[in-house]
Amino acid sequence: MTHSPAVAVIGAGLAGSEAAWQLARLGIRVELCEMRPCVMTPAHTTGGFAELVCSNSLGTESPSAAPGLLKDEMRQCGSLIMAAAEASRVPAGRALAVDRHAFSAAVEARLAALPEVTVIRQESATLPEGRTAVIATGPLTSPQLSAAIAQFVGCDNLYFYDALAPIVTAESVDPELSYWGSRYGVDQKGVAAAGGGSGDYLNCPLDRLQYLALRSALVAAPRHLPHPFERGRLFEGCLPVEVLAERGEDTMRFGPLKPVGLDDPRSGLRPYAVLQLRREDSSGHLLNLVGCQTNLTQAAQREVFRLVPALRAAEFARYGAMHRNTYLHGPRLLRPTLETRSRQGLFFAGQLTGVEGYTESAASGLAAGLAAAARAMGREPRPFPDVTMIGALCRFVSSAATEDFQPMNANFGLLPPLERRCPRRERPLLYRRRSLDAVADFLAAGA
Ligand SMILES: Cc1cc2nc3c(=O)[nH]c(=O)nc-3n(C[C@H](O)[C@H](O)[C@H](O)COP(=O)(O)OP(=O)(O)OC[C@H]3O[C@@H](n4cnc5c(N)ncnc54)[C@H](O)[C@@H]3O)c2cc1C
Repeated sequence: MTHSPAVAVIGAGLAGSEAAWQLARLGIRVELCEMRPCVMTPAHTTGGFAELVCSNSLGTESPSAAPGLLKDEMRQCGSLIMAAAEASRVPAGRALAVDRHAFSAAVEARLAALPEVTVIRQESATLPEGRTAVIATGPLTSPQLSAAIAQFVGCDNLYFYDALAPIVTAESVDPELSYWGSRYGVDQKGVAAAGGGSGDYLNCPLDRLQYLALRSALVAAPRHLPHPFERGRLFEGCLPVEVLAERGEDTMRFGPLKPVGLDDPRSGLRPYAVLQLRREDSSGHLLNLVGCQTNLTQAAQREVFRLVPALRAAEFARYGAMHRNTYLHGPRLLRPTLETRSRQGLFFAGQLTGVEGYTESAASGLAAGLAAAARAMGREPRPFPDVTMIGALCRFVSSAATEDFQPMNANFGLLPPLERRCPRRERPLLYRRRSLDAVADFLAAGA
């Protein structure tokens, strides 16, 4: 056990519990500060650690899916959240679903059994100073601490609401039915796009009948209902696309699906409407459906957006969503180790960093915990390898090349391409082998 000051972990949710576990396993003393049950959030109902606020599923375990790979990487790293989930699992096909009370109790009991962990039940209103700290207070960070974080990072770098549009993989968009180009041939930096062949956007044209079919489907499709504390929080500037569709036949065509300045370079004609896709990452593997933030269910999103001809075979890397969420503009603030660029020893973890989902939050807690352990031991933290799903998520939240930074869940589009070309169905296995080998090397080198 070290004699340096205990590392402060603020928030005993999915990320904070995992971070505290990783630190303590390395013999580092931890003060784990949780405000519940003294101060509650609008969504939590218990004082238990790692409470699952909504679904009781941590997502698929399929070895051919990105969330399945993420779970296996975490197991390889001795994850507390994965062990507690295993101990409390309930049958759910290929999904890892848990009895939420047994799960929370298992997380809490395992942490309480560690002599290195001291639990403090109080709200933290300020960022800890003078020692290594991991802030993992989640999407519903208390207002006082949110204000302290905003003061530290600057108001422009802290968001309070998600309005997520779906993201699809670039390779799944039909190149014959789409074309690159920016409005009036001018990209975001004001540079003219050469010959209509480049530009910032991949444009998916629709004729009148296709547009009307899309509109009808958007209006009729099933939606998620907002939680009571989220009602009435929609901003006119980022309404769900299905609400725009409801407002009138042409509302989308005069809004996000506006065709003006987007003539098809092959025909020279202006389409009736255009759905634009914008690069979400610097490699261009992921494309965001511009202006299509949505509350439709995931099954409905697949069905409805595939009505756009170029998106008939679209592979969804992230689904759209709209909910309350406090998160940082990670690319401006964080290193891939989740340490802040401006203060050595201060780490963020969980949903606050811009990852999305229970497992992703826990995974980022794992990464931040290991990195904070290195810092507390006087070593330079090392980021997880890029070829791992944990590393790819950390890299995305610390370097995504977008001003309009939005949260991300695990998906294969985040990983660097494989060294050689191979059929799509073989890729998951190859990603998996590459990743699990890299995790083994990373751990063998002392994380
Ligand atoms: C309403 C809602 C529903 C969601 N549903 C799902 C879902 O079904 N599936 C899914 O995968 N993801 C869901 N998410 C997204 C996300 O995955 C979860 O919120 C996840 O719990 C995030 O993990 P975390 O560790 O970052 O935050 P949390 O698990 O929320 O943990 C943060 C902890 O910090 C504590 N805290 C906050 N402020 C302070 C403070 N000032 N001092 C001390 N402690 C503090 C909180 O009490 C909490 O225990 C949902 C999010 C919300 C808001």
